[in-house]
Amino acid sequence: MTFASLTPDQIQSLHDEQLAAYRTLQDAGLKLDLTRGKPSPEQLDLSLELLSMPGDEYKDAKGTDTRNYGGLNGLPELRAIFSEIMQVPVDQVVAGDNASLAMMHDTLVFSLLRGTPDSPRPWAEEDEVTFICPVPGYDRHFALTQQYGVKMVPVELHDDGPDMVAVRELAAEPSVKGMWLVPTYGNPSGAVVSEAVAAELAALETAAPDFRIFWDNAYAVHHLTDERTKTADIVGLCAASGHPNRAIVYASTSKITFAGSGVCFLGSSEENVEWYLTNLGKRTIGPDKINQLRHARYLGDVEGVHKLMEAHRAIIAPKFEAVLEILRDRLGSHDIATWSEPKGGYFVSLDVADGTASRVVELCREAGIAMTPAGASFPYGDDPRDRNIRIAPTFPSIDELRTAIDGLATCVLLAAAEQHLTS
Ligand code: PMP
Repeated sequence: MTFASLTPDQIQSLHDEQLAAYRTLQDAGLKLDLTRGKPSPEQLDLSLELLSMPGDEYKDAKGTDTRNYGGLNGLPELRAIFSEIMQVPVDQVVAGDNASLAMMHDTLVFSLLRGTPDSPRPWAEEDEVTFICPVPGYDRHFALTQQYGVKMVPVELHDDGPDMVAVRELAAEPSVKGMWLVPTYGNPSGAVVSEAVAAELAALETAAPDFRIFWDNAYAVHHLTDERTKTADIVGLCAASGHPNRAIVYASTSKITFAGSGVCFLGSSEENVEWYLTNLGKRTIGPDKINQLRHARYLGDVEGVHKLMEAHRAIIAPKFEAVLEILRDRLGSHDIATWSEPKGGYFVSLDVADGTASRVVELCREAGIAMTPAGASFPYGDDPRDRNIRIAPTFPSIDELRTAIDGLATCVLLAAAEQHLTS
């Protein structure tokens, strides 16, 4: 039964049915929040042991007292673990404090105020600075570039990476200085940048000599299936293509250990890392090495990270399955919505009938189900088709999640029926 094949009477009766379900939903007085991709308390409990570490064993492997100042680039033993995950030599990996977003912020601000090693002048002295923004994408990336007056141009994110025809065209503009990209399990679609697309990005002809890819590998090890999807080695590919400074890789343990008290990482070419540290050295004397030390001890090695991620998966994979099952059950037989079936990451991306996403989110809100605002996954919050909604399944309990997604499906059907009846 597709919407297009329904008679006006059938659409009216579907509308009335969904409206009745919606009234029941409203009467239930729900208070559910699916807005942000936060780990659940149960996930945070997996790393509880961290809170009692490092005790009085506060010296690192080299005997450095982690309680003191210094060590700008972070503890070597922890960098070694993430060097493997990020595929960047350990000397080219910096371990910081608790937020990779702060490292992205700093990279952008240093580039704007001081220029990169390849910049003829600071970016802020250019008439215009533009970033390519694959969509749907991460709202906080877009908020960051917007805040500093960087113009954002959306390009479509396909299952294997950004639309390279559009990227190639944009990169021919000298004002285009960079792009955002979440290579593995994109936020929100779960798309994975293929090796071929990564190689194209590395080799891309750009008019700007200081073009930068902000390669945010926030979900590098966040698999939801048995497949350990491997991220392309973008730093290596860029070096091999003669653009060693092009890519900057970011990662963090925010969704491995504690979202608010993890450790973040930056990896890039030797020259970029030296540039970053020179600028960073004016901002801080050094990172929280005590937190880095306990992370190094708690995680142990890369296999330790994978083991912990397996425990996360056991908690969150059933939640993703529940979301997909309800979407299939409730929306599968209609032709009004499609959704991603991610193999990892933190989100499901739902595309509803064109022109109804804002209405769906409004209906949800009025029924006590808080969703991320429609359009959030687009630069300037502007989804030209008003159809994309990001679902964040990890935080609520599975029962709350089922109630919320079932309610969401009711709102999707109701909004589509309303649209058909009024058009
Ligand atoms: N990048 C992406 C793609 C994310 O989804 C998130 C968290 N939602 C972050 C970065 C934030 O990372 P951090 O906690 O390290 O700042």
